[in-house]
Amino acid sequence: MYYIDSIIEMADNYGFDVKLNESMSKHTTFKIGGNAELFINAKHIQGLIDILSRCQVNEVPYMIIGKGSNLLVSDKGIDGVVIHLDGDFNRIKLIDNKTIYSGAGVSMARLCNFACEQGLSGLEFAWGIPGSVGGAVYMNAGAYGGEMKDVVLYADHIDKDNTVGRFTIDKLDMDYRHSIYCDNGYTVTGVALQLQPDSQVEIRRRMDEYMKRRKDKQPVEYPSAGSVFKRPKGNYAGTLIQQAGLKGKRVGDAQVSEKHAGFIINTGHATCREVKTLIKYIQNAVKTNFGVELECEVKTVGKK
Ligand SMILES: Cc1cc2nc3c(=O)[nH]c(=O)nc-3n(C[C@H](O)[C@H](O)[C@H](O)COP(=O)(O)OP(=O)(O)OC[C@H]3O[C@@H](n4cnc5c(N)ncnc54)[C@H](O)[C@@H]3O)c2cc1C
Repeated sequence: MYYIDSIIEMADNYGFDVKLNESMSKHTTFKIGGNAELFINAKHIQGLIDILSRCQVNEVPYMIIGKGSNLLVSDKGIDGVVIHLDGDFNRIKLIDNKTIYSGAGVSMARLCNFACEQGLSGLEFAWGIPGSVGGAVYMNAGAYGGEMKDVVLYADHIDKDNTVGRFTIDKLDMDYRHSIYCDNGYTVTGVALQLQPDSQVEIRRRMDEYMKRRKDKQPVEYPSAGSVFKRPKGNYAGTLIQQAGLKGKRVGDAQVSEKHAGFIINTGHATCREVKTLIKYIQNAVKTNFGVELECEVKTVGKK
């Protein structure tokens, strides 16, 4: 049984924004997804801990989201509580001349700009990744030869007993699109990043160069969740999909991008069901043609 009312009351008392039956299409870059039963913008750690505890005690399912840029949400929506980090989690500060501390709710775009303004290099690869800092650590996001693993010093979190803790990089188990947080269900609250001093002009030049490469190669003009599949060993998912003749393949309004076959784009009012059907179709075709199993990078969440 759900005791969601007591969670609404608690969030209200903390002054957190609360929305009932909030469409997840507003919170995902795919612009797809049914309603979250309850959507909360958590603004400070004590309130977040209390809400997580209340969810656990009342057996209400919950999930943390960042910017929803790696999510495919069910058309039937999400049971329970979806928590987005804001307020205190949306702050950045310089700890020393090489180290930035960022709240998990900060967008990667803001973090990259802040680093550049401070004359700190190391995050240029991430300019254009449309997620949050928490999501980027969770996923060990990467591009153009860089990944979060290279710059993270430590991450702060709330564990499953609702105790705050910290993992230094050696404990984070960061690997290709994976961190320990994919396995343990903890909530990342903030991250320290160690960078290298460099000229602002040079940093901005590299950021611009990566952004240009992104815009030239990726269908950034359409809603998507980025690369749908992880890179298979010794190959590229996009290349295999293209070689299977699937560029432009559609299911409803979901389409394999003509510009980059590793992306599925939402050309209008695509549904989660359409995207999932297209994913299955691609996986079968690539398996049949090349014997390669494509594993999803995008996380599918919500009601079955
Ligand atoms: C146009 C486009 C380009 C992209 N390019 C890249 C790229 O170059 N490289 C790359 O790696 N990715 C890329 N992505 C994918 C995506 O941006 C990354 O995976 C990003 O790191 C996801 O962050 P997010 O905040 O949006 O997380 P979400 O999509 O909101 O969530 C992803 C997962 O992280 C968990 N999570 C999020 N925040 C927290 C938190 N604070 N604590 C615990 N768990 C959390 C969620 O529960 C979920 O399981 C791209 C996506 C798009 C749309």
